Amino acid sequence: MTDYKKDFPLLAESDIAYLDNAATEQRPACVLDAEREFYERWNANPLRGLYELGVEATEQYEHARERVARFVHAKSEREIIFTRNTTEGINLVAYSYALSRLKPGDEILVTIMEHHSNLLPWQMAARQTGATLKYLECEPDGSFTEEKIRDAVTPHTKLAALTLVSNVLGRATPAEKLIGMVHENGGVVLADAAQAAPHMPIDVTALDVDFLAFSGHKLMAPMGIGVLYGKQELLEEMPPFLTGGEMIDRVTREGAVFAELPHKFEAGTVNAGGAAALAAAIDYLESIGWKEITEREEMLTAQLLAGMKKIPGVHILGSGDEKEHCGIVSFTVDDVHPHDIASILDEAHVAVRAGHHCAQPLLEWLGISSCARASVAFYNTPEDVGRFLDQLAQVRRMMGYE
Ligand code: PMP
Repeated sequence: MTDYKKDFPLLAESDIAYLDNAATEQRPACVLDAEREFYERWNANPLRGLYELGVEATEQYEHARERVARFVHAKSEREIIFTRNTTEGINLVAYSYALSRLKPGDEILVTIMEHHSNLLPWQMAARQTGATLKYLECEPDGSFTEEKIRDAVTPHTKLAALTLVSNVLGRATPAEKLIGMVHENGGVVLADAAQAAPHMPIDVTALDVDFLAFSGHKLMAPMGIGVLYGKQELLEEMPPFLTGGEMIDRVTREGAVFAELPHKFEAGTVNAGGAAALAAAIDYLESIGWKEITEREEMLTAQLLAGMKKIPGVHILGSGDEKEHCGIVSFTVDDVHPHDIASILDEAHVAVRAGHHCAQPLLEWLGISSCARASVAFYNTPEDVGRFLDQLAQVRRMMGYE
């Protein structure tokens, strides 16, 4: 079995069993090197320098955009907007598209399992436009029934915002079906790919999705660089989200002519080092390949699920089938608060997340206020999962329940 941890300085130098990959992944040396290389060799403010170094900085930045466009199968790199993260990409669409298009009587459809980042912007848009926010509910295992989907999509559905993978249940949503139905009714769809992009190929053209957002840091790139994909014809018609330097063609005392796509949506100095490192992360990820990534993650998830099912008092959220978890296994332990679970695991250097996972409506619907979550990436090992399981088996006893 290939040892990928050696590619990751933090993992190679510590004994941590890092199982909080859904929150943020670790960075391999090649990604850290790419960011450093940008600042060591090409540092100048991109998109404005008329001297050679400035031109090179711009080339690095635009090369990264082409790399991302190929990664998500966009028709043109003009459809790729660099953002800070998923949250910013979704807000861009909520402010720039939804506020100028929606009106009372229109419906915004979200699923009950959305991360707050793909919910609060739509609550805001509904409040400001008078549109109605509607929820598509899932089943306890994270699946959606045909009947509920049919009822949820109406001719009033002007915009649907759905995650491709739940950050709590790990389950993929029926995005293709929903996108088709919303389009038939004349609406547009935004996909939150924050949890999908690290685990499965994304093809925006095949999916025919209108907008799609993801964060670099969840697929091994630095924090502070993210991506919003949007269909060119939609982006062309949208007003800018942020205004200021770099996003204009011409400014007079009275007004401004905005730059062409994609720069119209990238106000201010951009994160070119982060973009270059994101391109390196995509190169690294694709050099490993989806087949290897999926096989390893499913193998580790199967080990997690099988081990957890044997521990008395542990309850897994979601379907419990390794093919339906995208490496994410959320759980509760009878009588033990999730924060205590995380602290006890931490004593054995096992890192898991505990809390509401920024998905409070889902947790409320599931009848819980918080849970713990273990999430694997391809670079984790059976030893990481084994240490987690050994420690988890001790949790109830350590809290005085056995
Ligand atoms: N959507 C989902 C499904 C997520 O899991 C996350 C991150 N936990 C986000 C959106 C927000 O990502 P970011 O904080 O990078 O904007």
